[in-house]
Amino acid sequence: MSDSSYNPYTMAQKQFDNAAELLDLDQATRDFLRVPMREYQFSIPVRMDDGSIKVFRGFRVQHNDARGPSKGGIRFHPQETINTVRALSMWMTWKCAVVDIPLGGGKGGVICDPHNLSLNEQERLCRGWVRCLAKNVGPLSDVPAPDVMTNSQHMLWMLDEYETIHGGKYPGFITGKPVGMGGSLGRTEATGYGVMITVREAMKELGIDIQKTTASFQGFGNVSQYAIELYQQMGGTPICVSCWIQKEGKAYSFVKKDGFDLERLREITNHFGEIDKEKAQDQGFEVLDSGAWLEQDVDLLVPAALENQITGESVPRISKQVKIIAEGANGPTTPEADEVIKERGILVIPDFLANAGGVTCSYFEQVQSNQNYFWAKEEILGKLDLKMTDAYLAVSKFAKTNKIYMRDAAYMISVERVSKACQARGWV
Ligand code: GLU
Repeated sequence: MSDSSYNPYTMAQKQFDNAAELLDLDQATRDFLRVPMREYQFSIPVRMDDGSIKVFRGFRVQHNDARGPSKGGIRFHPQETINTVRALSMWMTWKCAVVDIPLGGGKGGVICDPHNLSLNEQERLCRGWVRCLAKNVGPLSDVPAPDVMTNSQHMLWMLDEYETIHGGKYPGFITGKPVGMGGSLGRTEATGYGVMITVREAMKELGIDIQKTTASFQGFGNVSQYAIELYQQMGGTPICVSCWIQKEGKAYSFVKKDGFDLERLREITNHFGEIDKEKAQDQGFEVLDSGAWLEQDVDLLVPAALENQITGESVPRISKQVKIIAEGANGPTTPEADEVIKERGILVIPDFLANAGGVTCSYFEQVQSNQNYFWAKEEILGKLDLKMTDAYLAVSKFAKTNKIYMRDAAYMISVERVSKACQARGWV
């Protein structure tokens, strides 16, 4: 996102073309799947607290709904672009397919910076987004969720607007709602926990004792925090985390070579996941530049921030000690970097597999909402573990059997499932 020449949509299409080639997919299916089925771009006028009107640009892209309603989050980000949303919607299609849940792929966004919006302004923006799309989304067609800089409160405002427009209760319209208001226990933890469930399986396969490992994380938002939480519970030692500091307009890496305590770090972090630099130094962290997270001598790297982070340029900075990269973010690694990682024999748990825990729990939330019956947390986390473990093992087995890269294996499984659904429906 930071580099204006980088186009995530081109990257997502390149990855898809590669999978289509490996699967020897027919031309019509390729043409159909390499672009989204539907796209919406719209203006959202919002009355600001000072009485003025500000117009925000909003997006929703429905890449594919052959396997079920489109599913995917809504991002609030100042650098959001239609191409980012297109790429993310494609990745959602593959993500739902790899964990084999009956949902398609979609993504939404608004060009805005919630740091500069009051809660009232954010509420009006959420309601405006839904008003623009009320006829094009819904529990049976397209189900949004939280993503970068959106949370359960945003989801509840969106649900309320949708229900007001449609005159009924539709809790299955949106996921990531607050617990007690149609939300699911475990949803907040699900993406980060899911990442670590796949890491646990990968380490088992590689014969690595997780308790003897160290890890470095990029980002300290929802995904990263819960990935670290489960990693610590499993006995791993996190030694580095990086985060964005809004008031400085840049990111920093926080390093504590003998391991840090997540709870203490959370105490000095705001709700955007920004760590207080001075207080971190008091806790014994070394504060280094934004890229330092990538250079640590650790066993595990977890990019859990934004796309385009491990690039042809930055990939040589990865330490020789690294054995696994688990992609908590969507699209953190470029195809150029993939080539180097492949050669070095680092095991990559690709994004739409590693971070599929969030949407898997969203699916559980939708099922619970539709039934109006809510499950216990242990049941949800147990089901999440089963889904993530099964998906990881299937991809890893396919990669080993066919002697291919993990990302290619995940793509081949997903693209094949989605192609079959399109073909069975008689679309292509
Ligand atoms: N935004 C999350 C993702 O990228 C979750 C999507 C969802 O729950 O629908 O996977």
